[in-house]
Amino acid sequence: MEKMQRQLEKLVEKNRHWCDQGNTATYIPELSKQDPGMLGVSIFDTQGRQWHAGDWQMPFTIQSLSKVAFFICMLVDNSFDVLTRKISVAPSADGFNSIVNLETKNEKRPLNPMINSGAIAGITLVRGATMEEKFLRIFTMLGKMTGNDELSVNQNVYQSEKEFGDRNRSLAYFMKSTGIIDGDVDSLLDVYFRLCSIEVVCADIARMAAVLAFDGRAPWSGETLFDIKTARIVKAVMTTCGMYDGSGDFAVDVGLPGKSGVGGGIMAVSPRNLGICVFGPALDQRGNSLAGWKLLQCLSEELDLSIFSTCKP
Ligand code: GLU
Repeated sequence: MEKMQRQLEKLVEKNRHWCDQGNTATYIPELSKQDPGMLGVSIFDTQGRQWHAGDWQMPFTIQSLSKVAFFICMLVDNSFDVLTRKISVAPSADGFNSIVNLETKNEKRPLNPMINSGAIAGITLVRGATMEEKFLRIFTMLGKMTGNDELSVNQNVYQSEKEFGDRNRSLAYFMKSTGIIDGDVDSLLDVYFRLCSIEVVCADIARMAAVLAFDGRAPWSGETLFDIKTARIVKAVMTTCGMYDGSGDFAVDVGLPGKSGVGGGIMAVSPRNLGICVFGPALDQRGNSLAGWKLLQCLSEELDLSIFSTCKP
């Protein structure tokens, strides 16, 4: 326990200098106000133990980390066949908010649920007679997975997303024109923007990752939140698509199912072992936390966490 604690503190200090090489997201102006020098980490294991270091208590917005909960709800509420008729699970070599693939590739389906187009279309597949019910369905899943029943929307970030969300509006209107979605685009995007603007700390996201590590059960209560097959699919798609167009590099560098968000969080899952969250709002060119990625790379090497490692006994 003490050893892990010391190890994490050292890793934060060792990797903090990477914060200088990245930039906070500017296309959502409210996110650019974050201090780029922050770096924190939280870990929960499947036996309920926890470790934290650095700026792990600093609140940040969940952004695309919430797409993991979107995807879980989509899978629980639909058969995989129905779901993949609308959204495939293919990696993207383009940015997380790219529009081009919707026209040129993949028969007009969003490539995967971990990028903006797939997440926005996916909301329509989540159970709920109204958009508000769909919001609550995903929000409740997030509350259960984070073990935090006091999650709330950061109103400043939400307003900023809404005001500067024209790329997401373009994606949604394009998808409406091709029949991927129907209905009112504004209310659909309102659900999306709110679910990206939920405020969390590292510990919340590490618990969320620990549920995936524990195959859908909450390690702190034993409650089953979703089944093992759902957990398996989500981890597979996180591995191939979770770090946007950096997913291949992340598989090599870290070797864990991961998901990042432009708020600076990265969630990583060490199956049957650990749920990990790092937070560092200075991002690389692709929108992934730069120092967070480097910290995870060191952690994975030191603990031999890569799922692709052949060294395990
Ligand atoms: N709210 C952000 C957007 O829609 C989420 C992007 C992300 O974290 O990848 O652009």
